[in-house]
Amino acid sequence: NANLWALIEAAAAMAGDRPAFVESGEVRLRYDQLDAAVGGWARALTERGARPGDRIVVQTEKSIDNALLYLASLRAGLIYVPLNTAYTAAELGYFIGDAEPALVVAPGHASLAELAAEAAPGAFATVARGPDDLAAILYTSGTTGRSKGAMLSHDNLSSNALVLKDYWRWQAGDVLIHALPIYHVHGLFVALHGALLNGSTMIWHKVFDADAVIDDLPSATILMGVPTFYVRLAAHPRLTREAAATMRLFVSGSAPLLESTFVDFEAKTGHRILERYGMTEAGMICSNPYDGDRVPGTVGFPLPGVSARVCDETGRELPRGEPGVLEIKGPNLFKGYWRNPDKTAEEMRGDGHFITGDIATMAEDGRVAIVGRAKDLIIAGGLNIYPKEIELAIDAVPGVGESAVIGVPHADLGEAVVAVVVRGDPTLDEAAVLAGIASLARFKQPRRIIFAETLPRNAMGKVQKAALRETYRALFT
Ligand code: ATP
Ligand code: MG
Repeated sequence: NANLWALIEAAAAMAGDRPAFVESGEVRLRYDQLDAAVGGWARALTERGARPGDRIVVQTEKSIDNALLYLASLRAGLIYVPLNTAYTAAELGYFIGDAEPALVVAPGHASLAELAAEAAPGAFATVARGPDDLAAILYTSGTTGRSKGAMLSHDNLSSNALVLKDYWRWQAGDVLIHALPIYHVHGLFVALHGALLNGSTMIWHKVFDADAVIDDLPSATILMGVPTFYVRLAAHPRLTREAAATMRLFVSGSAPLLESTFVDFEAKTGHRILERYGMTEAGMICSNPYDGDRVPGTVGFPLPGVSARVCDETGRELPRGEPGVLEIKGPNLFKGYWRNPDKTAEEMRGDGHFITGDIATMAEDGRVAIVGRAKDLIIAGGLNIYPKEIELAIDAVPGVGESAVIGVPHADLGEAVVAVVVRGDPTLDEAAVLAGIASLARFKQPRRIIFAETLPRNAMGKVQKAALRETYRALFT
């Protein structure tokens, strides 16, 4: 049975009476209770009429019940469709219309919890699934356009989880602080599967709060986070070497980690954050090594079993070191976009490689750095400009907090470079920024510097460049 639940059930059986979920200092569920708890939820779902292959849409606040509901969906052969809790009723209409679920679990799902508690414990036979049967449809974050439903099979999820178990050296005694949302790959798959397949205790945080996470560091060994977590932790006076003494691994992903954050964090804790790269359509793709060098500004190497190449727009592989579009293939690669074969076909090469839409470089030794998104590439006066290069230069100017560089419509140039800068030093002005980046070629230098209080980010810490482009659309018209 290729059902991912079967793998998790076997790992849970080995973990005995170890706590699976700890919340607010209390053991909420032990591994030897997981089977019965998930069985109860699976019974409740089937009693509501859900059948294998049906979609179940879930939009609820993060909770342990929510995690059990996910596991029960796997077990019952349903296709789990989590939705960002920030979506409004109008947005929900699109997702529900698209996913056509048999069941929708919405805020205030207490009635389902009651049904799960009443169902006969442990009496649910895991539904048999083949490796290509769908386990979940996750909608992409919608950073570059309308969210697309990515169809993920049981084997997509299991293979990726097993690779990461080895790559990140999950081991006896590991305890994970789980502070990510569970409607996205990072929290739902990478963090949750990692801990469950290792029989590791999760210290469950409903939301990320730097204080609360620092309180729990001495009881933990692993933290997974988006870059925002690390920015906030590094700025916190209580983050010290002693506070992080039991920790083995800090993982960052979902958005680029600033080099300055990596450096600050290492200076304060002695830990080099392990940055990895992935996406909804393929789970984890590249990772910095556990033992080898973790290089800031890079995402490390393609994971075992993943083929990755950097190509031009026609799919021809480029010489090492040249920026181009990253194309990938592997057992982690999704089964296509839900009910959108045209979109799927558009993003696939004939040999099965998927066009990620991210611009990357690959060094001679295979190390990958993400330079940005193809959709954020600026073409000014016919010249290609990679925002990341300019952002790195701006971020290095004393007094700059962070920056986002975008292209906006310009009558002469087609697009003009604009930098949105968040001050670290309140006295910083435009002239100082421009003087600090004078070594950049003239055509790359921003035509305009705009100072802002913050950069618009979504819950995963992704800068919303499309929103910025919209805001400054009329700057030169
Ligand atoms: P959409 O596809 O709807 O526009 P999205 O691509 O932001 O949204 P996700 O699948 O959540 O949706 O995010 C995947 C993207 O996140 C990657 O394609 C990449 O651009 C970015 N990303 C993830 N990890 C990293 C990283 N370590 N460094 C840089 N970018 C990263
Ligand atoms: Mg995407």
